[in-house]
Parts: sequence; C-alpha cells; structure tokens
Amino acid sequence: MSRSFSNIPLAETCLANLAAIGYETMTPIQAESLPEILKQKDLIVQAKTGSGKTAAFGLGILAKLDPTVCRVQALVLCPTHELAEQVSTELRRLARFLPNIKILTLCGGVPMQGQLSSLEHGAHIVVGTPGRIQKHVRKGSLPLSALTTLVLDEGDRLLDMGFYDTIIAIADAAPAHRQTLLFSATFPERITEMSAAVQKQAVRIAADTEHCDKSIRQLFYTVAHPERNQALYALLAHYQPESTVIFCNTRQTCKDVTEFLRHKGYSAAGLQGDMEQAQRTLLFTQFANRSISILVATDVASRGLDIESLAAVINYELSPDPEVHVHRIGRTGRAGKEGLALSLCLDSQEYLIRRIEECQKRPVTRAALASLTPRPGTLAPPMVTFALNGGKRDKIRPGEILGLLTGDVGLAGNQVGKITIFDSIAYVAIAREAAATFKQWLPNGKLKGRVFKAV
Ligand code: ADP
Ligand code: MG
Repeated sequence: MSRSFSNIPLAETCLANLAAIGYETMTPIQAESLPEILKQKDLIVQAKTGSGKTAAFGLGILAKLDPTVCRVQALVLCPTHELAEQVSTELRRLARFLPNIKILTLCGGVPMQGQLSSLEHGAHIVVGTPGRIQKHVRKGSLPLSALTTLVLDEGDRLLDMGFYDTIIAIADAAPAHRQTLLFSATFPERITEMSAAVQKQAVRIAADTEHCDKSIRQLFYTVAHPERNQALYALLAHYQPESTVIFCNTRQTCKDVTEFLRHKGYSAAGLQGDMEQAQRTLLFTQFANRSISILVATDVASRGLDIESLAAVINYELSPDPEVHVHRIGRTGRAGKEGLALSLCLDSQEYLIRRIEECQKRPVTRAALASLTPRPGTLAPPMVTFALNGGKRDKIRPGEILGLLTGDVGLAGNQVGKITIFDSIAYVAIAREAAATFKQWLPNGKLKGRVFKAV
C-alpha cells in the first residue's frame, strides 16, 4: 500500500498544507482508514496511541466540509477536556488551507455562558466532552441538524468513564443519515455494543495495535478429555495467577469445574447468566477486590465483567467461534501489564486451532502439560470481603469506613483494601491476616447506625 498522501483524493490545497506542516507520508492507520473514510463509510478504527488517528478523521471531516455554511457539520466526542483541546489544536492545523473555519471546544467544568455566546456566532466543527455536549443539545444551543460526521475518539476510554448512555443520547439527536467514526486504542467487547448502537454496517480496521503479540502470552495445551480437571489444576499450580477467569462452554461444565476447584481448596466462584443482579455485583466486587481469585463463567455470564487487570484467562474448553476466543483472551493483559491466556484443547480440535490462527493472523504457541511444575504457595486470596448494610443513600463515604477501620478497629492502612459503595450496601476488603481482628470488633461496632457482617 502506498503511503503518499497524494494518492488519496484530497484537495491540492490540503496536500500543500500537509507538506507545510511536515506530514510527508501517511502513518499505517491513516493509509488503511483514510480511503474508507473518504468513501463515507462508518468505521471502527483500532490503533495504538500516537499513531495519527486525529488526522485520519480530521482530513475526512475537512474533505466534505462546506466552509460557506456556518453550521455544525462535525462533532467530535472525547473523554477528557485535555484530549478535546489536543484534537481541536490538531484540527486547526489541518484546516489551515480552508478560510475561516470555526472550531469550538466545549467541555464541562467551565461556565455555560461563554459557550452559549460562542455557539450563537456559529461553528463548523465542535469538539467536546459528552456530558457538556449533551447539555447543549438538550438546551437547544447546539443544533445538530446539519451534522454529517460524528466522531467518537478514544472509544475505550469514553466507555471506561461511563459515557455510554450519554453518547447514545447525543447520537440519537443527530441526523440518522451521517457518517459515524469510532476510534479506539483497545477493543473491549463493549466497543462492539456501542458500534451497533450508533453506526451502520461499520467496517473494522486495525493497524499498529497493541494487541496479542506484545501484551498477551498465549499458550495451548493438548489434553485428553478425562484429564482436563487435572490439567487445569496443574496450570493453576504452576502459574499461580492472582486473578483468573476460566471459560467453559456450558453452565453444567462451569458448575463441575467450580466444584472441582473448591474441592482442591481454591476460592472459586461460578458466574451464571441467570444470577440475580445483587449476587453478580457481589461476585464482581469480591473478584475485583481480590477476595475471590477465580471466576468460572460461560461467555454469556461473563458479560459486563470489566476489570482493570486480569492476570490470566484460561479456556477450559475452546470456544467453537474463533472470534469469541479472541474476545475471551483480550480480557487479560490490560493496563499495560502482560496478560496470560492458557487454553486446553483436545486432539480432535486441531481444526479450531487453525481457525484461531487465521483469525489472529499468527500461529499459536504450543506447550506441554509435562513442562508444568507446581510451585509452593497459598491458595487463599489475599483479602476477605465484609459488607455494611448501608450505602450512598445513607451518605456513607469511603473515607469514613477507612477512618473507622484504621481508628476504632485499629487496622493498619495497608490492611484495608478496596472500598466499594453502592446505593444501599457497601463492601470493604480487609487483609486476610487482619480479618479476625475485625470480626472481634463486629458485634459492638456501628457506622452511622449501620452494621458490618462477613459475606
Ligand atoms: P492518536 O490519536 O492515534 O493517539 P495523534 O493523532 O494524536 O495520535 O497523532 C500523534 C502525533 O503524530 C501528533 O503529533 C501528530 O501531529 C503526528 N502525526 C499524525 N499524522 C502524521 C503524519 N502523517 N506524519 C507525521 N506526523 C503525523
Ligand atoms: Mg487520539
């Protein structure tokens, strides 16, 4: 693929400006995505930070912009104020070849008034954070009737910051006939969900990704069907991951595997799709605060499980769908840490391995079960969870719980783990070695009239 900008249908003045700002050749993600962007397709573009995604959508926006119409034709949503400023700066540089293009940055945390008067003067492009943009859309100060391009930049971070519903609401307020471009450095499952909600027949493009190779160590172990439990045990004893999700294809297998692991002394919990929400929330909380170290789940049941760093994913059974396989293992190795993906496969599943290789465009690495050696170590997770029967509704704050535990109860600060507060319940993780001290205190202790109990 040619990397020269001049092979792309861009205006001569635009090309001259690119040369002037020192953009000689396209970056790989620009070369892959720009032709499709100019064809007005909806795209999901995945590439690591610093790969030039802003210019990819920026040039697309400018190519179809009508400078004579001073109405908002493009809207770019960014997760933070700082990123919105960066995007605006880059867009202004790219737009120098067009006369009098107005680009407005609209973010929260500043008074509405100044933004309202800027909007009254009109703008061609608006860049902003979802919350504030939605506020303007609701108020009617940001009309979207002339919008032709909607860009969701840093899609993974927009989701991490809880903007899903806000984004859907903004997209719903925009004309249905538009181009929607979604950019992201990583590709969590929920990106697909967001894409389905706001895009049409989106094409996925990836280049320069931070995926598999670098951040996930993936190994396949061939095993005979009756020996799968023993193999799983050998994997856990050898690698001793701090947190593991084990995938099975059926609920019954999940139950069997959970039972086997508990019998072996592990703190494992099965995650069922039909579980009550409160029960799921408790399990997710315990897993995230390190008081359960293994979750056993089917693909359906694992939906919504979104943890910052997962030490390992183990496929007790391979998924029949290679894309599902890639999703499963994508859960480990986040937050800059190397992940570990271990898969058990049967002799009869060679065809599945070939499909996985095709899907990930890379041969898989095999390892032998015989190479595993159990290491001494403790099976108990480092923390224990306690529940307080009060939460946000009772104005319970993390600082108060921490203050009580390090004050009245007499724990050291580093013996108190994650504190998670919901509407009417709160959970706190306490170091296993300190749990007994806390239990002794429990019968007499209260916080704002609420009591703690072990879960
Ligand atoms: P991303 O959004 O993918 O993290 P940016 O769009 O912020 O990356 O681009 C990173 C840097 O690369 C910016 O400083 C930008 O000016 C520069 N850049 C982008 N495209 C090109 C190019 N084709 N040639 C040279 N520099 C480029
Ligand atoms: Mg960017």
